[in-house]
Amino acid sequence: MNLPAAASLFDMTDGALTLVVPGDPSELAQSLRVAFFEEYGVAADVVGRAPGRINLIGEHTDYNGGRCLPMALSHATYAAVGRRTDDRVQIRSRTVDDTWRGRLGDLGAAQGWAAYAAGVLWALEVDHGVDVMIGSTVPVGSGLSSSAALECAIAVAVDAIAGRALTDARRLELATACMRAESDVVGAPTGGMDQLVAMLAPAGDALLIDFHDGSSRAVPVPLAEVGLEILVIDTGVRHALADGAYAARRRECEAAAHLLGVPALARASEDSWSRLGDEVLMRRARHVLTEGERVDNADQAIVEGEWAELGTVLDASHASLAHDFEVSCPELDLAVETARASGALGARMTGGGFGGSAIALVREEHATAVAASVHAAYAARGWSPPSFLRARPGQAANAARVNVRRHRAEDADPFT
Ligand code: ADP
Ligand code: MG
Repeated sequence: MNLPAAASLFDMTDGALTLVVPGDPSELAQSLRVAFFEEYGVAADVVGRAPGRINLIGEHTDYNGGRCLPMALSHATYAAVGRRTDDRVQIRSRTVDDTWRGRLGDLGAAQGWAAYAAGVLWALEVDHGVDVMIGSTVPVGSGLSSSAALECAIAVAVDAIAGRALTDARRLELATACMRAESDVVGAPTGGMDQLVAMLAPAGDALLIDFHDGSSRAVPVPLAEVGLEILVIDTGVRHALADGAYAARRRECEAAAHLLGVPALARASEDSWSRLGDEVLMRRARHVLTEGERVDNADQAIVEGEWAELGTVLDASHASLAHDFEVSCPELDLAVETARASGALGARMTGGGFGGSAIALVREEHATAVAASVHAAYAARGWSPPSFLRARPGQAANAARVNVRRHRAEDADPFT
């Protein structure tokens, strides 16, 4: 599967811009099955698929019991999985060109990238060995949730092998298992937004999640109907959420909530941040509390088709994340500023920050020009070129059983 580079060029340019394309799901699944067969010498039983995501708004709110509005991408991670009769586990990622091998008893101790995959098998208490082959069109570590896409692709595949129906209730359980994999095995205390949208995304729509009560509802975002789109700018700067900064923000939020006497920071009254004596905690709390308001404003702007207003709210979110929450970086700031200056209605960083990606709300006919401006601004500073994705709404995770009846012994390649 020629996935990782999966890049082509924007039309109408001198060919300097990198566009990361989502690929065709059935072609990707097919080529992954071939890779599985070549690696393991047997056919895979199932291919799971789970999407990456952008978060339209509501950043660092999930672990504070607040609201967020993510949207699944058509870029996704695919996992071909085959059941074994022993207790061995082999997990190969074509993306990172590495293989993890162990036994069921080793799953909880897996390290590095493999911890995301092995952690899901651990959390689901899988009681038989598996072979796994992973491929992805979600850029890894770019704030577009490649980690949850990987976890959820494996989770739905393993469930399909067990013959379990992917009901709404089961989707929630799988999302929870994937969160446990990321927090307990990887050691990255993320807040749950990524796994929930990967498992529950309503096809074609964004998902408004309220972490106060765990409820969620579809939010149609009819951008294409009005000639708009979300351009994703991957700065290429790679964060590591398992390292200290993300956990430090969580601790600061917990401390602020404790001082304000609320169980979760998003539950504090809107201007209560001003009562916090500590300057840093004040700014962290102000972000979380004003971001909650911005999620509501964005939701309303989308319902009313007030796209300029939506852009303004995105801009305000970025300012708050950069100044109050301090999770932006120069590369994100430049992407956001340049996108706005070259015609975007609004722009903000998306995902946990410290690098990763920004989103820009642009008119379709301006997308290439905005991307070219950001590319040029990076070049002017001598920075590595960013890459771009067009955010087309994708579908929640699902799995398909492999049709092994197509296998004929005399074929060199049983899947073509
Ligand atoms: P994000 O989820 O925004 O992409 P994270 O830091 O949360 O960033 O997760 C990225 C990590 O997840 C990678 O460094 C790698 O360890 C793991 N990962 C994600 N996708 C894959 C993949 N396709 N193959 C191997 N590892 C992956
Ligand atoms: Mg992640």
